Amino acid sequence: MGDRILKLGKYSVGTGDRFAHQAKAQLQACIEALDAGLEVVPVWNKSNREHLIIGSQPGSVRQAADAAVKALGWRYPYFCDADHITLETAGRFMDSCDFFTIDVADSIGQPAQAADIDHFVKGRRGLLGTIHLAGADEPFEITHEDLTRTARKFLAAVKKAGEVYRSILSAKGDGNFLPEVSMDETDAAQSPVELLIILAAIADEGIPVRTIAPKFSGRFNKGVDYVGDEAQFEREFALDIAAIAYAVEHFGLPGDLKLSVHSGSDKFSIYPAIHRSMQRFNAGVHLKTAGTTWLEELIGLAEAGGDGLALAKEIYAEAYAHSEELCAPYANVIDIDPKKLPAPEEVRGWTSDQYTSALRHVQSSPAYNSSLRQLLHVGFKIAAKMGRRYLDLLEANEAVIARNVTENLYDRHIAPVFLGGSA
Ligand SMILES: [Zn+2]
Repeated sequence: MGDRILKLGKYSVGTGDRFAHQAKAQLQACIEALDAGLEVVPVWNKSNREHLIIGSQPGSVRQAADAAVKALGWRYPYFCDADHITLETAGRFMDSCDFFTIDVADSIGQPAQAADIDHFVKGRRGLLGTIHLAGADEPFEITHEDLTRTARKFLAAVKKAGEVYRSILSAKGDGNFLPEVSMDETDAAQSPVELLIILAAIADEGIPVRTIAPKFSGRFNKGVDYVGDEAQFEREFALDIAAIAYAVEHFGLPGDLKLSVHSGSDKFSIYPAIHRSMQRFNAGVHLKTAGTTWLEELIGLAEAGGDGLALAKEIYAEAYAHSEELCAPYANVIDIDPKKLPAPEEVRGWTSDQYTSALRHVQSSPAYNSSLRQLLHVGFKIAAKMGRRYLDLLEANEAVIARNVTENLYDRHIAPVFLGGSA
Protein backbone atom coordinates (compact mmCIF):
# COMPACT_ATOMS: atom_id res chain seq x y z
CA MET A 1 0.00 0.00 0.00
CA GLY A 2 2.90 2.34 -0.63
CA ASP A 3 5.25 4.14 1.70
CA ARG A 4 3.68 5.57 4.78
CA ILE A 5 5.52 8.61 5.83
CA LEU A 6 3.18 10.15 8.37
CA LYS A 7 2.80 8.51 11.73
CA LEU A 8 0.00 9.41 14.08
CA GLY A 9 1.62 7.91 17.15
CA LYS A 10 0.16 5.50 19.64
CA TYR A 11 -1.78 8.04 21.69
CA SER A 12 -3.61 10.91 20.09
CA VAL A 13 -6.38 13.27 21.02
CA GLY A 14 -8.78 14.83 18.55
CA THR A 15 -9.86 18.18 19.79
CA GLY A 16 -12.22 20.74 18.37
CA ASP A 17 -11.79 24.46 18.48
CA ARG A 18 -14.94 25.89 16.99
CA PHE A 19 -13.80 29.50 16.98
CA ALA A 20 -10.08 28.79 16.37
CA HIS A 21 -8.99 30.67 19.50
CA GLN A 22 -7.91 27.86 21.86
CA ALA A 23 -5.28 25.90 19.95
CA LYS A 24 -2.55 27.08 22.29
CA ALA A 25 -4.51 26.21 25.42
CA GLN A 26 -5.29 22.77 23.97
CA LEU A 27 -1.68 22.15 23.00
CA GLN A 28 -0.72 23.11 26.53
CA ALA A 29 -2.66 20.03 27.72
CA CYS A 30 -0.45 17.85 25.47
CA ILE A 31 2.61 19.53 26.94
CA GLU A 32 1.35 18.62 30.41
CA ALA A 33 0.99 15.02 29.22
CA LEU A 34 4.56 15.16 27.99
CA ASP A 35 5.64 16.44 31.38
CA ALA A 36 3.86 13.45 32.88
CA GLY A 37 5.87 11.18 30.57
CA LEU A 38 3.48 10.50 27.68
CA GLU A 39 3.45 11.76 24.10
CA VAL A 40 -0.15 12.48 23.15
CA VAL A 41 -0.40 13.83 19.62
CA PRO A 42 -2.92 16.62 19.08
CA VAL A 43 -5.26 16.47 16.11
CA TRP A 44 -7.43 19.50 15.50
CA ASN A 45 -10.69 18.39 13.98
CA LYS A 46 -13.54 20.34 12.50
CA SER A 47 -16.34 18.98 10.36
CA ASN A 48 -17.82 20.59 7.31
CA ARG A 49 -21.04 21.10 9.24
CA GLU A 50 -19.20 23.07 11.92
CA HIS A 51 -17.46 25.19 9.30
CA LEU A 52 -20.81 25.95 7.68
CA ILE A 53 -22.49 26.89 10.96
CA ILE A 54 -19.61 29.11 12.02
CA GLY A 55 -18.83 30.42 8.56
CA SER A 56 -15.15 29.46 8.81
CA GLN A 57 -12.68 27.97 6.33
CA PRO A 58 -10.57 24.82 6.89
CA GLY A 59 -7.45 26.95 6.48
CA SER A 60 -8.23 28.73 9.77
CA VAL A 61 -7.81 25.46 11.69
CA ARG A 62 -4.40 24.91 10.11
CA GLN A 63 -3.32 28.47 10.84
CA ALA A 64 -4.35 28.23 14.48
CA ALA A 65 -2.62 24.86 14.88
CA ASP A 66 0.59 26.02 13.20
CA ALA A 67 0.66 29.19 15.28
CA ALA A 68 0.14 27.28 18.54
CA VAL A 69 2.85 24.76 17.67
CA LYS A 70 5.25 27.57 16.91
CA ALA A 71 4.39 29.61 19.97
CA LEU A 72 4.80 26.68 22.37
CA GLY A 73 7.75 25.04 20.59
CA TRP A 74 5.95 21.69 20.15
CA ARG A 75 8.42 19.38 18.41
CA TYR A 76 6.20 16.31 18.03
CA PRO A 77 3.67 15.45 15.32
CA TYR A 78 0.32 17.22 15.05
CA PHE A 79 -2.47 17.04 12.51
CA CYS A 80 -5.53 18.79 11.14
CA ASP A 81 -8.50 16.50 10.60
CA ALA A 82 -11.15 16.99 7.93
CA ASP A 83 -13.76 15.52 10.23
CA HIS A 84 -16.70 13.53 8.87
CA ILE A 85 -16.10 14.38 5.23
CA THR A 86 -17.71 12.74 2.21
CA LEU A 87 -16.93 12.74 -1.50
CA GLU A 88 -18.98 15.93 -1.82
CA THR A 89 -17.32 17.86 1.00
CA ALA A 90 -13.69 16.65 0.96
CA GLY A 91 -12.49 19.11 -1.66
CA ARG A 92 -12.16 22.23 0.45
CA PHE A 93 -10.03 20.41 3.04
CA MET A 94 -7.30 19.19 0.69
CA ASP A 95 -4.85 22.05 1.21
CA SER A 96 -5.09 22.41 4.95
CA CYS A 97 -5.67 18.89 6.27
CA ASP A 98 -3.45 15.83 6.64
CA PHE A 99 -5.96 13.64 8.45
CA PHE A 100 -9.26 12.73 6.79
CA THR A 101 -12.20 11.18 8.60
CA ILE A 102 -14.07 9.48 5.79
CA ASP A 103 -17.67 9.23 6.95
CA VAL A 104 -19.61 6.48 5.27
CA ALA A 105 -22.34 5.99 7.86
CA ASP A 106 -25.01 7.00 5.33
CA SER A 107 -24.01 4.11 3.07
CA ILE A 108 -24.47 1.47 5.77
CA GLY A 109 -27.30 -0.81 4.71
CA GLN A 110 -27.22 0.42 1.11
CA PRO A 111 -27.26 -2.48 -1.32
CA ALA A 112 -23.90 -3.52 -2.73
CA GLN A 113 -23.59 -5.25 -6.11
CA ALA A 114 -24.40 -8.95 -5.80
CA ALA A 115 -21.18 -9.78 -7.65
CA ASP A 116 -19.15 -7.69 -5.16
CA ILE A 117 -20.73 -9.48 -2.20
CA ASP A 118 -20.05 -12.84 -3.82
CA HIS A 119 -16.48 -11.91 -4.55
CA PHE A 120 -15.89 -10.69 -1.01
CA VAL A 121 -17.45 -13.73 0.65
CA LYS A 122 -15.46 -16.11 -1.55
CA GLY A 123 -12.22 -14.23 -1.04
CA ARG A 124 -12.64 -14.14 2.72
CA ARG A 125 -13.63 -17.76 3.26
CA GLY A 126 -10.63 -17.95 5.56
CA LEU A 127 -12.65 -16.08 8.18
CA LEU A 128 -15.22 -18.87 8.47
CA GLY A 129 -15.22 -21.02 11.58
CA THR A 130 -13.53 -20.21 14.88
CA ILE A 131 -11.06 -17.35 15.15
CA HIS A 132 -8.90 -17.03 18.23
CA LEU A 133 -7.86 -13.46 18.85
CA ALA A 134 -4.66 -12.99 20.79
CA GLY A 135 -5.34 -11.97 24.38
CA ALA A 136 -9.14 -12.04 24.06
CA ASP A 137 -11.45 -13.85 26.46
CA GLU A 138 -13.63 -15.37 23.79
CA PRO A 139 -13.20 -16.55 20.19
CA PHE A 140 -15.22 -15.32 17.22
CA GLU A 141 -17.45 -17.82 15.50
CA ILE A 142 -18.23 -16.74 11.96
CA THR A 143 -20.66 -18.62 9.76
CA HIS A 144 -21.14 -18.23 6.03
CA GLU A 145 -24.40 -16.49 6.81
CA ASP A 146 -22.67 -14.01 9.19
CA LEU A 147 -20.12 -13.16 6.53
CA THR A 148 -22.76 -12.68 3.83
CA ARG A 149 -25.07 -10.65 6.06
CA THR A 150 -22.25 -8.37 7.19
CA ALA A 151 -21.10 -7.89 3.60
CA ARG A 152 -24.66 -6.97 2.59
CA LYS A 153 -24.83 -4.42 5.36
CA PHE A 154 -21.39 -2.80 5.07
CA LEU A 155 -19.80 -3.53 1.70
CA ALA A 156 -21.37 -0.55 -0.06
CA ALA A 157 -20.11 1.70 2.75
CA VAL A 158 -16.59 0.33 2.44
CA LYS A 159 -16.67 0.74 -1.37
CA LYS A 160 -17.76 4.32 -0.78
CA ALA A 161 -14.84 4.82 1.62
CA GLY A 162 -12.55 3.52 -1.11
CA GLU A 163 -13.94 6.06 -3.54
CA VAL A 164 -13.40 8.93 -1.09
CA TYR A 165 -9.96 7.64 -0.13
CA ARG A 166 -8.85 7.54 -3.78
CA SER A 167 -10.09 11.06 -4.41
CA ILE A 168 -7.99 12.31 -1.46
CA LEU A 169 -5.07 10.18 -2.62
CA SER A 170 -5.11 11.73 -6.06
CA ALA A 171 -5.13 15.23 -4.60
CA LYS A 172 -2.60 14.75 -1.80
CA GLY A 173 -0.41 11.83 -2.84
CA ASP A 174 0.42 8.66 -0.96
CA GLY A 175 1.92 9.06 2.47
CA ASN A 176 0.80 12.65 2.88
CA PHE A 177 -2.32 12.07 4.92
CA LEU A 178 -3.86 9.70 7.45
CA PRO A 179 -7.18 8.11 6.48
CA GLU A 180 -9.78 7.32 9.12
CA VAL A 181 -12.99 5.47 8.28
CA SER A 182 -15.92 6.43 10.47
CA MET A 183 -19.21 4.58 10.88
CA ASP A 184 -20.21 6.04 14.21
CA GLU A 185 -23.01 8.37 13.17
CA THR A 186 -25.60 5.68 12.73
CA ASP A 187 -28.26 4.05 14.90
CA ALA A 188 -26.99 0.51 15.38
CA ALA A 189 -23.67 -0.32 17.00
CA GLN A 190 -21.25 -2.53 15.11
CA SER A 191 -20.26 -5.70 16.92
CA PRO A 192 -16.58 -6.70 17.20
CA VAL A 193 -17.20 -9.51 14.70
CA GLU A 194 -18.68 -7.01 12.26
CA LEU A 195 -15.68 -4.74 12.82
CA LEU A 196 -13.32 -7.57 11.87
CA ILE A 197 -15.27 -8.28 8.68
CA ILE A 198 -15.42 -4.55 7.86
CA LEU A 199 -11.63 -4.36 8.26
CA ALA A 200 -11.24 -7.28 5.84
CA ALA A 201 -13.32 -5.36 3.32
CA ILE A 202 -11.32 -2.18 3.93
CA ALA A 203 -8.10 -4.11 3.27
CA ASP A 204 -9.59 -5.55 0.08
CA GLU A 205 -10.50 -2.03 -0.98
CA GLY A 206 -6.85 -1.00 -0.61
CA ILE A 207 -7.44 1.69 2.04
CA PRO A 208 -4.42 1.98 4.37
CA VAL A 209 -6.73 2.93 7.22
CA ARG A 210 -4.97 4.29 10.30
CA THR A 211 -7.91 4.85 12.59
CA ILE A 212 -11.35 3.29 12.52
CA ALA A 213 -14.37 4.73 14.28
CA PRO A 214 -17.10 2.18 14.86
CA LYS A 215 -20.28 2.94 16.69
CA PHE A 216 -19.99 1.40 20.13
CA SER A 217 -22.98 0.19 22.08
CA GLY A 218 -24.61 2.60 24.51
CA ARG A 219 -25.58 6.22 24.11
CA PHE A 220 -22.94 8.82 23.25
CA ASN A 221 -24.85 12.02 23.83
CA LYS A 222 -23.22 15.34 23.07
CA GLY A 223 -21.19 16.85 25.86
CA VAL A 224 -22.45 14.60 28.66
CA ASP A 225 -21.52 11.23 30.08
CA TYR A 226 -22.02 7.78 28.62
CA VAL A 227 -25.37 6.08 29.10
CA GLY A 228 -25.27 2.32 28.78
CA ASP A 229 -23.87 -0.90 30.14
CA GLU A 230 -20.26 -0.14 31.06
CA ALA A 231 -19.33 -3.81 31.46
CA GLN A 232 -20.67 -4.60 28.01
CA PHE A 233 -18.81 -1.62 26.60
CA GLU A 234 -15.54 -2.85 28.09
CA ARG A 235 -16.06 -6.39 26.81
CA GLU A 236 -16.75 -5.14 23.28
CA PHE A 237 -14.02 -2.52 23.36
CA ALA A 238 -11.44 -5.16 24.29
CA LEU A 239 -12.68 -7.41 21.48
CA ASP A 240 -12.52 -4.49 19.02
CA ILE A 241 -8.88 -3.93 19.94
CA ALA A 242 -8.14 -7.64 19.58
CA ALA A 243 -9.93 -7.68 16.21
CA ILE A 244 -7.78 -4.78 15.02
CA ALA A 245 -4.59 -6.58 16.03
CA TYR A 246 -5.82 -9.61 14.10
CA ALA A 247 -6.62 -7.48 11.06
CA VAL A 248 -3.16 -5.90 11.12
CA GLU A 249 -1.53 -9.30 11.25
CA HIS A 250 -3.71 -11.10 8.73
CA PHE A 251 -5.08 -8.49 6.34
CA GLY A 252 -1.96 -6.40 5.77
CA LEU A 253 -3.42 -3.21 7.25
CA PRO A 254 -0.98 -0.62 8.67
CA GLY A 255 0.70 -1.72 11.88
CA ASP A 256 -0.34 1.41 13.74
CA LEU A 257 -4.06 1.02 12.98
CA LYS A 258 -6.06 1.84 16.10
CA LEU A 259 -9.55 2.63 17.30
CA SER A 260 -10.88 6.14 17.08
CA VAL A 261 -13.37 6.88 19.82
CA HIS A 262 -15.82 9.56 18.69
CA SER A 263 -16.89 10.36 22.15
CA GLY A 264 -19.31 13.20 21.51
CA SER A 265 -17.19 14.51 24.39
CA ASP A 266 -17.01 13.67 28.06
CA LYS A 267 -17.63 9.94 28.32
CA PHE A 268 -16.02 9.93 31.74
CA SER A 269 -17.59 6.73 33.04
CA ILE A 270 -16.05 4.59 30.27
CA TYR A 271 -12.62 6.23 30.35
CA PRO A 272 -11.33 3.73 32.94
CA ALA A 273 -12.50 0.85 30.71
CA ILE A 274 -10.75 2.41 27.71
CA HIS A 275 -7.58 2.83 29.74
CA ARG A 276 -7.68 -0.74 31.08
CA SER A 277 -8.17 -2.16 27.60
CA MET A 278 -5.28 -0.14 26.22
CA GLN A 279 -3.06 -1.44 29.01
CA ARG A 280 -4.24 -4.99 28.59
CA PHE A 281 -3.46 -5.12 24.86
CA ASN A 282 -0.66 -2.55 24.82
CA ALA A 283 -2.79 -0.71 22.26
CA GLY A 284 -3.12 2.92 21.30
CA VAL A 285 -6.31 4.94 20.90
CA HIS A 286 -7.38 8.11 19.15
CA LEU A 287 -9.82 9.96 21.39
CA LYS A 288 -12.00 12.60 19.77
CA THR A 289 -13.48 14.93 22.29
CA ALA A 290 -14.30 17.83 20.12
CA GLY A 291 -17.08 20.00 21.35
CA THR A 292 -16.39 20.85 24.94
CA THR A 293 -13.75 23.48 24.30
CA TRP A 294 -16.54 25.83 23.33
CA LEU A 295 -18.21 25.20 26.69
CA GLU A 296 -14.93 25.97 28.45
CA GLU A 297 -14.94 29.29 26.62
CA LEU A 298 -18.37 29.99 28.08
CA ILE A 299 -17.20 28.89 31.52
CA GLY A 300 -14.17 31.16 31.25
CA LEU A 301 -16.34 34.11 30.19
CA ALA A 302 -18.73 33.50 33.07
CA GLU A 303 -15.86 33.13 35.52
CA ALA A 304 -14.39 36.43 34.31
CA GLY A 305 -17.55 38.24 35.43
CA GLY A 306 -18.52 41.65 34.04
CA ASP A 307 -19.11 41.72 30.27
CA GLY A 308 -18.01 38.10 29.99
CA LEU A 309 -20.64 36.87 32.44
CA ALA A 310 -23.27 39.08 30.83
CA LEU A 311 -22.51 37.61 27.41
CA ALA A 312 -22.59 34.05 28.76
CA LYS A 313 -26.07 34.79 30.17
CA GLU A 314 -27.21 36.35 26.93
CA ILE A 315 -26.06 33.25 25.02
CA TYR A 316 -28.06 31.06 27.39
CA ALA A 317 -31.17 33.21 26.96
CA GLU A 318 -30.87 33.03 23.16
CA ALA A 319 -30.22 29.28 23.23
CA TYR A 320 -33.27 28.85 25.48
CA ALA A 321 -35.42 30.88 23.11
CA HIS A 322 -34.25 28.91 20.08
CA SER A 323 -33.83 25.52 21.72
CA GLU A 324 -36.03 23.65 19.26
CA GLU A 325 -34.14 24.70 16.16
CA LEU A 326 -30.76 24.31 17.85
CA CYS A 327 -31.55 20.82 19.07
CA ALA A 328 -33.22 19.50 15.92
CA PRO A 329 -30.02 18.48 14.06
CA TYR A 330 -28.80 16.67 17.18
CA ALA A 331 -32.07 15.05 18.21
CA ASN A 332 -30.52 11.55 18.31
CA VAL A 333 -27.62 12.55 20.51
CA ILE A 334 -29.11 14.82 23.15
CA ASP A 335 -31.51 14.17 26.02
CA ILE A 336 -32.61 17.52 27.40
CA ASP A 337 -35.29 17.63 30.07
CA PRO A 338 -37.02 20.98 29.41
CA LYS A 339 -38.25 21.05 33.00
CA LYS A 340 -34.64 21.15 34.17
CA LEU A 341 -33.77 24.21 32.11
CA PRO A 342 -33.72 27.32 34.30
CA ALA A 343 -35.66 30.29 32.93
CA PRO A 344 -33.42 32.96 31.40
CA GLU A 345 -34.76 35.46 33.97
CA GLU A 346 -33.41 33.25 36.71
CA VAL A 347 -30.01 32.84 35.00
CA ARG A 348 -29.82 36.61 34.58
CA GLY A 349 -29.51 36.88 38.36
CA TRP A 350 -26.76 34.27 38.64
CA THR A 351 -23.26 34.91 39.97
CA SER A 352 -20.18 33.67 38.10
CA ASP A 353 -20.05 30.73 40.44
CA GLN A 354 -23.68 29.75 39.86
CA TYR A 355 -23.22 29.83 36.09
CA THR A 356 -19.94 27.92 36.01
CA SER A 357 -21.03 25.27 38.49
CA ALA A 358 -24.25 24.60 36.54
CA LEU A 359 -22.27 24.24 33.30
CA ARG A 360 -18.95 22.74 34.33
CA HIS A 361 -18.98 18.97 33.90
CA VAL A 362 -18.46 17.93 37.48
CA GLN A 363 -21.12 15.32 38.07
CA SER A 364 -20.51 15.16 41.79
CA SER A 365 -21.48 18.82 42.11
CA PRO A 366 -25.13 19.28 43.11
CA ALA A 367 -25.33 22.43 40.97
CA TYR A 368 -24.32 20.63 37.76
CA ASN A 369 -27.17 20.69 35.23
CA SER A 370 -26.81 18.31 32.30
CA SER A 371 -29.83 19.73 30.43
CA LEU A 372 -28.37 23.23 30.53
CA ARG A 373 -25.01 21.85 29.47
CA GLN A 374 -26.44 20.00 26.48
CA LEU A 375 -28.44 23.02 25.35
CA LEU A 376 -25.38 25.25 25.48
CA HIS A 377 -23.32 22.53 23.80
CA VAL A 378 -25.46 22.75 20.67
CA GLY A 379 -25.84 26.51 21.06
CA PHE A 380 -22.54 27.55 19.49
CA LYS A 381 -24.44 28.91 16.53
CA ILE A 382 -25.60 31.78 18.77
CA ALA A 383 -21.99 32.78 19.51
CA ALA A 384 -21.11 32.38 15.83
CA LYS A 385 -23.85 34.88 14.95
CA MET A 386 -22.43 37.37 17.44
CA GLY A 387 -19.23 37.42 15.42
CA ARG A 388 -16.67 39.96 16.64
CA ARG A 389 -18.61 40.68 19.80
CA TYR A 390 -18.01 37.14 20.96
CA LEU A 391 -14.45 36.90 19.67
CA ASP A 392 -13.42 40.21 21.24
CA LEU A 393 -14.51 38.96 24.64
CA LEU A 394 -12.65 35.68 24.08
CA GLU A 395 -9.53 37.68 23.40
CA ALA A 396 -10.04 40.05 26.31
CA ASN A 397 -10.43 37.10 28.70
CA GLU A 398 -7.84 34.83 27.15
CA ALA A 399 -6.04 33.87 30.35
CA VAL A 400 -9.03 32.70 32.35
CA ILE A 401 -10.49 30.86 29.36
CA ALA A 402 -7.17 29.19 28.50
CA ARG A 403 -6.84 27.93 32.06
CA ASN A 404 -10.25 26.26 31.84
CA VAL A 405 -9.59 24.81 28.37
CA THR A 406 -6.24 23.28 29.38
CA GLU A 407 -7.49 21.97 32.70
CA ASN A 408 -10.57 20.41 31.11
CA LEU A 409 -8.64 18.67 28.33
CA TYR A 410 -5.85 17.45 30.57
CA ASP A 411 -7.57 16.61 33.87
CA ARG A 412 -10.84 15.28 32.54
CA HIS A 413 -9.76 13.59 29.28
CA ILE A 414 -6.05 13.04 28.70
CA ALA A 415 -5.16 11.98 32.25
CA PRO A 416 -7.96 9.43 32.75
CA VAL A 417 -7.75 7.91 29.25
CA PHE A 418 -4.02 7.85 28.61
CA LEU A 419 -2.48 7.99 32.06
CA GLY A 420 -5.16 6.23 34.04
CA GLY A 421 -5.62 9.14 36.43
CA SER A 422 -8.97 9.90 37.94
CA ALA A 423 -11.38 12.22 36.13
ZN1 LIG B 1 -18.03 11.10 14.92
